[in-house]
Amino acid sequence: MMRVITCVFVEHDIKLVLLAAMVCLAGSWTTIRLFTRANTTAGLASVGWHFLAAVAAGSSIWCTHFIAIIAYDPGTPVSFNPVLTIVSLLIAMAGTAVGLTIASTGPTQIAPAAGGLIVGLAIALMHYTGMAAYHVEGLVEWTTAYLVASVVLSALFGAAALHVAIRHTNANSKYIATGILVLAIVSLHFTGMAAVQVTPMNLGGAHADPDALQAMALAVAVVGLVVVGAGIASYLIDDRTRLDNYQRLREMAMNDALTGLPNRTCFTDHLDLEIQYARRAASKIALICIDLDRFKEINDLRGHSVGDEVLKTLAGRMSDLLGEGEFVARLGGDEFVAVKRMRDQADLLDFISRLETALFAPIWLDNFDATAGASLGVAIYPDDADNRDMLTNNADLAMYRAKADVTKIVCFYERSMDEAVRSRRTLASELRSAMENGELDLHYQVQTSVSTGEVLGYEALLRWKHPTRGFIPPSLFIPLAEENGLIKPIGDWVLRTACAKAAAWPNDYKIAVNLSPVQFTNADLPKLVHEVLLETGLPPSRLELEITETTIFADRERALHMLRRIKALGVTIAIDDFGTGYSSLETLRAFPFDKIKLDRSFILEVETSPQSKAIIRAVLALGQSLDIPVLAEGVETSSQLTLLADEGCDEAQGFLLGRPMPLEEITKSLSEVRLVPRRKTLLLPEDAEFAQVG
Ligand code: C2E
Ligand code: CA
Ligand code: CA
Repeated sequence: MMRVITCVFVEHDIKLVLLAAMVCLAGSWTTIRLFTRANTTAGLASVGWHFLAAVAAGSSIWCTHFIAIIAYDPGTPVSFNPVLTIVSLLIAMAGTAVGLTIASTGPTQIAPAAGGLIVGLAIALMHYTGMAAYHVEGLVEWTTAYLVASVVLSALFGAAALHVAIRHTNANSKYIATGILVLAIVSLHFTGMAAVQVTPMNLGGAHADPDALQAMALAVAVVGLVVVGAGIASYLIDDRTRLDNYQRLREMAMNDALTGLPNRTCFTDHLDLEIQYARRAASKIALICIDLDRFKEINDLRGHSVGDEVLKTLAGRMSDLLGEGEFVARLGGDEFVAVKRMRDQADLLDFISRLETALFAPIWLDNFDATAGASLGVAIYPDDADNRDMLTNNADLAMYRAKADVTKIVCFYERSMDEAVRSRRTLASELRSAMENGELDLHYQVQTSVSTGEVLGYEALLRWKHPTRGFIPPSLFIPLAEENGLIKPIGDWVLRTACAKAAAWPNDYKIAVNLSPVQFTNADLPKLVHEVLLETGLPPSRLELEITETTIFADRERALHMLRRIKALGVTIAIDDFGTGYSSLETLRAFPFDKIKLDRSFILEVETSPQSKAIIRAVLALGQSLDIPVLAEGVETSSQLTLLADEGCDEAQGFLLGRPMPLEEITKSLSEVRLVPRRKTLLLPEDAEFAQVG
């Protein structure tokens, strides 16, 4: 160490050392700037910036070395081999070009350090090639330890410099990287020079004049600084053009016309860049989805101009609060989104609280409190998602949770909570392909006469056999299909399939098909039923459509009109789940139903709850007086069946009489024999006496 320090102060011309230091500092700073710029571009532009960075790095490293060598006084005349001197300059440029390119394009996390290592080694190789070009009149001795130390130091500092530059570990990382690169160059030079010991000998050879050498050092410094200056100039010119282009772009396509905030296109581009950046720097970014709470209400109450004013005010407040690495865009309607480069949790919380202040500060317009309030959902890259779509999706899920919970303004994405919503969405999209993949199937459940036990028909019940999750109950996927409109194609398929299969049966059993209220929004439903009957050749009297009260309740006139048209075809209509709806009596009065299906819940409790029993009695009496047969659903035990028989119930359906089964299983009994018990109430599978019927 002492030797290195002595080397600086005693053996060097201090003015030239300062000059070398200046070139070194300017060169390193320019190199890091150009290099970070190279990292934010792609394609040819990136190649160009890497080239400029390598030229700036190579020339400034070489100039620093050359000036410092001239500053070194070995105590004896010196001269330079021109070829080797030029070779050392080329080594500096080519070596840094390779190192910088590897650092920014290498596939692994250690690429920046590996590239930096190569830059460090290139500095060392340049130095020792330069030393080979350097001739002194005297005996030159080398100390291996210093020599090795110089190479190691240069390589390590080189690696550290590019690691910091790319990984962006800190807000000041550009300056820190510059400092470390300077250290790489300086430590190499002085440790390398400390490795040399010259014992002067006057050999009388040709040597350079010291004044000429000084002049050359100055000239080299000037040329070096000019090269570096050219690099910086291109950086600044590009920066300016970029800014101009950016502003023009913003004005043209990237802006939301109403608020002046970036729009969805701009947001997508921005998020992609930020993710790319965070991936390289191994840092985090937060995505915050913002949805205004009372916007619709304000719009409805006060008109669109007030709504627009609210959006503009909030947009203005949010763009005013943005700092470095922060971004806000309007996606449309009352949806906004914010992106934040975050160092830690505190950093993010601070940003969120600034957003909250902006969103919740009162807005008064014409003496009307138009403060909208908002719900915020946060997801963090890479903790919650590792790509743009997933991140947006997760922030969205968290935002919906915040919206649903009146006590919360901000929700962070939580896998367990939001996964349920996601799996519902996934299921919905899988249902879309389920029909094409043949995963949907119909099972059939028998409906029998209570008094004779005779089979009257079968109800078609939809089944979904998911390739990985197994059977999914219709109570889960029918509501999903109703939400996203899939129920229309699915319902068509059910109707067509059930009718086609039933038409092929050897008996004239009825086939009951469930219709969703959503199918009634399609005015062509009666036409569809007609077509299906013609196509399949099923006599209309064998088809029974089951609807619930919800169907009529949603749009009474329209639904009743459609039911009448369907009934006119000769098809019968049953009211399903009766007793669970809103205005049962009114429904029955409004339309001449052909069957009442008494809901399962009453039969389940018939033996334990006097109320249920009373309701069953009332419904049976109602059926009798309106002359509509009643079918009891969910009959599971023989005592339930006995009781229903005693009360005069007409028909029954339930596990006791038969579970829903695939077609193959019921066709056996369809074609073979028709078994009915002889006695009125005996439908006990174990002890029933069966008689063969035609
Ligand atoms: P639903 O129309 O009331 O159908 C009767 C449901 O009760 C069926 O459930 C059936 O398996 C079940 N069930 C029958 N007997 C018994 C019993 O003794 N005990 C018990 N605990 N349950 C019994 P599933 O098949 O799960 O269907 C549930 C609901 O899904 C149906 O209720 C219906 O609303 C809907 N659904 C099924 N298939 C279709 C369809 O093709 N279209 C439409 N729109 N809805 C359908
Ligand atoms: Ca039904
Ligand atoms: Ca039912």
